[in-house]
Order: sequence, then structure tokens, then C-alpha cells
Amino acid sequence: TARPPIFQFDNSYARDLPGFYVAWEGAKVPTPQLVVFNRELAKELGLDSNLLETSEGAEIFAGVRQPDGASPLAQVYAGHQFGGFSPQLGDGRALLLGEIIDSTGNRKDIQLKGSGPTPFSRGGDGKAVVGPVLREYILGEAMHALGIPTTRALAAVTTGETIYRDGPKPGAVLTRVAASHLRVGTFQYFAARGETDKVRQLADYAIDRHDPDLAGQPDRYIRLFRGVVEHQAALVANWVLVGFVHGVMNTDNTTISGETIDYGPCAFIDAYDPAAVFSSIDHGGRYAFGRQPVIMQWNLARLAETLLPLIQLDDLDKAVELASAELGRFPDIYRAAWLNGMRAKLGLVEETAEDQDLFETMLSVLQEQSVDYTLFFRHLSEAAVGEPQKPRELFVDPTQIDGWLKRWMQRLESEGRAPADTRTAMNLVNPLYIPRNHKVEEALQSAETGEYFLLNELLDILKAPYEERTGFESYALPAPEAFGPYQTFC
Ligand code: AMP
Ligand code: MG
Ligand code: MG
Repeated sequence: TARPPIFQFDNSYARDLPGFYVAWEGAKVPTPQLVVFNRELAKELGLDSNLLETSEGAEIFAGVRQPDGASPLAQVYAGHQFGGFSPQLGDGRALLLGEIIDSTGNRKDIQLKGSGPTPFSRGGDGKAVVGPVLREYILGEAMHALGIPTTRALAAVTTGETIYRDGPKPGAVLTRVAASHLRVGTFQYFAARGETDKVRQLADYAIDRHDPDLAGQPDRYIRLFRGVVEHQAALVANWVLVGFVHGVMNTDNTTISGETIDYGPCAFIDAYDPAAVFSSIDHGGRYAFGRQPVIMQWNLARLAETLLPLIQLDDLDKAVELASAELGRFPDIYRAAWLNGMRAKLGLVEETAEDQDLFETMLSVLQEQSVDYTLFFRHLSEAAVGEPQKPRELFVDPTQIDGWLKRWMQRLESEGRAPADTRTAMNLVNPLYIPRNHKVEEALQSAETGEYFLLNELLDILKAPYEERTGFESYALPAPEAFGPYQTFC
């Protein structure tokens, strides 16, 4: 009897959007080997892990064996990179294998990243190496565990190839799962060519996939835009609340779905600093920690431009007016999401007029004193139960936070929640474990030599970021002084 296919593909992108991609196949590689496999995600996707944790699975994830029902393709897109427009980017080292419907009925892209050159490689080798592949795996899974919308990693394989970056590195391929790979840059590609019909086709496809209630509605395009603005404002608020720096917020790395995508030179901050930049190529600090909301709004303006003829073809002034109104809501949506999140982080339940000032006063002391952002909130929860010494320990000059601590404790008292309940609530929203830069580096360096113990331990810890575990204290600590300033590479 024939075995059922491993993936029940239903490839809407390949079927519905000819002209939006090139059908393509993965490059041959010598020895595909599974390094990590995400059983939990496989289950959510309705996939049989027993069939995938095999040499056949490794070959599929390396792109050398095409699973039944796949229709591999490279998507075309454009994008603003560091503010400058590139009219032609596209999947230069990725292939969409196909789409499957997960166990909750949601359509998911299965994409290989690092599977070899495509017509969009622009002189690149089309490959990926084990460090960046595993960084994306770790960071994506950490974000997911933190409850932040993100693409996820199903598997990482090494290919047996040696790829030259800054020196010889083991080649690798990531299998990425996403609500879709539609980007602002996908719309830009067709808009820049004046292909309004294609932009409309893409917008209708995006609506079917991400906002199906809008299908057929006369005002669906402005409402599609409204949805993207809302999702992206909430997403960036989440990033900022948790201390995440994306690092390369180009419009081709900004999704329509509202998921975080493309973990290149990203990192979590340790000391609180709005100017924090980790990417080796972000010389001007365009994508610094504190600039992320402004940049996202800028990216969404680029999306709005592509949609204008769809919003109101016969009256572009009117279209601009409608789109500007939606875009203009971004700062308020962002601020509301951030204030809500910060109230939760501080154990507050009531919304008051002093909230913004209370939060900003705290952040300015954290910044002046270079206090670890993540640890501050965990230690602060101890102050809620009468241990102000715990957060004070994190300050070079603890007297600088005393005024604020008093103010915060008075506020808690006025809200009247039992202190133990406040502590519990705070520890449910403030992670103890984030992907600390030095821990990520340790795991990646060890993986480059074929040792995956630290990688697996780190992935395991990050699955339950709020739950203190004995024996893993080092994972909660900031980098030692000797680690020095951190730089990330694409
Ligand atoms: P990114 O900055 O990672 O979002 O990538 C920007 C563009 O460069 C995308 O079109 C990628 O597909 C492409 N790209 C990145 N690395 C490579 C590579 N090694 N080979 C070919 N294309 C690449
Ligand atoms: Mg990208
Ligand atoms: Mg990238």
C-alpha cells in the first residue's frame, strides 16, 4: 500500500500567482544531516515526525529531495534596504516548498533557506552557514515562546559543504514556517513596475490568506492596510517591551502577516539603551533599538504607496487622504500597546494619566545606570513583596532608583492587589531567560564544530522563559564583562 505523503501540500501561491515567482529547485549537496528538528512544531503542523527524523527528512530539508506534492519556487520581491530602493530582490537563497494547512486550520508556508542559488541571487552564492541558520532557529523559537508573532523553524540541516564567509564554515539549510512570505517588498516590486493589476491580485491574495472577512468588500484595500498597520504596531511594541532589536528592518523584511521575519543581525539588549545597534552593517544606527517604531511606520508608508490606486483609482488625492489617516494612527496604536505591556511588566492593573511619566522616569534611570533590562523586571517583582534590595543590587548607584521605587510601590499600594499576586503576575510576563548574546554565541561556536549539546540546552531553556530552573542560573545572567561589545553579521 502506498504511504500517504509526508506533507499534504496545497500550493496556493504557485497556483494563483503565476508571474510572482520562478519555479526552481534546490542545489545538490553532498551529505545532508539533521541537526535540530522541532517536534512540537511538527505536531502543530500535523506532520509525522517519524517520517521526518530520517535520512529522507534530512534530504528534504536540505533541498535535494523533493517531497511529493511540493512545487518549489523562488518568490520575487523588491525592497527598501537602509532607505534605498532595490527594484529587484527576491528569494536569492530560499525556496518555498509549498503550503500546508496546520492542525488549527491555518495555512503555513514551508520554506527552505540556504538551498542554493536562484535567478534572484544577484551574485550571492545562494547558501547559508550553520551559525546564522541556528541563530534564526534559536531567536525565532525564543520569540515564539515569548508569545510574539514570528516565523518559526521546523528543522536545520548541515549539508556537508564548506562555505566561505569570513573563513570556511559548514553549510546549512533552515526550514522556515510562516503564515506567509508576503512582504511590503512584494507589493513594491509590482507597484514600481506600474503593474497595478498585479498589485491588486496580490492584495486580494493577501486578503484571502490573512483577512478573509474582507474578501469582496468594496473598501477591502484600505482595510487590509489598516490591519497591517495594527498588527505591525503591536508587533514592534512587543519587540521593544522584550528588548529585541531586529537589526535589518528593510521593507523586504516587513511582513503583511505581522510576523517577525528574517533573523539576521538581530539581538536582545542587555543594558537598556535606545541607541543600541548590534548589526555590523548598520553604521548610521538606522535600525537602532529605539528607532524601530519610527522605521516601521516608514515601511508602512511604502506599503501605502503601493496600494493607492487600489484604494481609490479615480481620485488619488482621496486615496492619499484615506491611507494617511490609517498610517497616522500608528503612533497611538503603538503607544497604547506599549503602555499596556509596560503596565503588565510593572504589575499594574489600572490605567492612569501618570503611566507614561512613571515608565519613562524608570527607563531614564535604567539607561543612565546601564542596568540589565530583562533582569530589572524580574528583580523588581521581589520589591513588590518587600525586597527592594533585589532591584537595587542591579544599580551602580542604587540611590538613583529609590525615588522611583517609592513612587511605584505607592502606586501598587493604591491599586490594592495582594503583593504576592503582583509578584506572580509580574513573573508571568517578564522573562527570566532570553537568548543572551554570549549564550547564543557559545551555542553557535560549539555547533560549528559539530557539537550540539549547548544548542539543545539553550533551546530547551528558551522554551519556558518565565519558569525559573535550578542548575541553569548562568542562562539568566548578562554577558560577563570580558564578552565585550556585541556585533552581529548577516
Ligand atoms: P536579507 O538582508 O537577508 O533580507 O537579504 C536581502 C536579499 O539578499 C534577499 O533577496 C536575499 O535572498 C538575498 N541574499 C542574502 N544572502 C544571499 C546569498 N548568500 N546568496 C544569494 N542571495 C542572498
Ligand atoms: Mg530578507
Ligand atoms: Mg537575512
